[in-house]
Amino acid sequence: MKSVCIFCGSTFGSDGLYLHAARSLATAIASRGMTLVYGGSTVGLMGAIAETALSSGGRVVGVIPKALVSREIAHRGLSELHVTEGMDDRKRLMSELSEGFIALPGGYGTLEEISEVLSWAQMGLHAKPCGLLNVAGFYDSFLQFLDGAVAAGFLRPASRALALVDSDPELLVSKLEAAPRARYDRWQGEGASAGSP
Ligand code: AMP
Repeated sequence: MKSVCIFCGSTFGSDGLYLHAARSLATAIASRGMTLVYGGSTVGLMGAIAETALSSGGRVVGVIPKALVSREIAHRGLSELHVTEGMDDRKRLMSELSEGFIALPGGYGTLEEISEVLSWAQMGLHAKPCGLLNVAGFYDSFLQFLDGAVAAGFLRPASRALALVDSDPELLVSKLEAAPRARYDRWQGEGASAGSP
């Protein structure tokens, strides 16, 4: 894997553990010679992963919509900064530039981004591994939600398994590297019948 996209909070969160985990993940990616792709800004955990990867000698590519550049939060010291028209082309470009995706703790933006790439993986639109860094149990309630969706018949166990999880940054990156690259398609070999997620 040559590049990983990180989705993460635009704030630091309330516990220093989140910043520590963000820095460890950025170091793990840079030390493996992987390019770190992210949202291109200087704020919160986003700024922290960029700074850490750059200072570890890593390559960092930011993708930011022009509305946020004009608010002057774009990181000007990156290896590359792509400025897009809006959020949709931004997410498309982040996805194209990345061979895998990891979510650190975050809020709506992070949840939306990781859910979208998992949903695309489920539809067979890409075969790139997706992971959650479960820092201090941050994602436990989301994982319980996914298990509940399986139990309720809205999510196949195989789709659920697309979400790789670890609390350790190094181990999570290793899981992504070891993940099969075969395209998964939940509709393969069957009709899109009701009750068949
Ligand atoms: P949130 O988790 O709601 O803080 O949103 C963070 C995610 O949404 C990041 O992965 C970014 O891609 C995007 N995002 C949210 N706020 C910003 C911002 N101020 N600058 C750049 N990207 C942002």
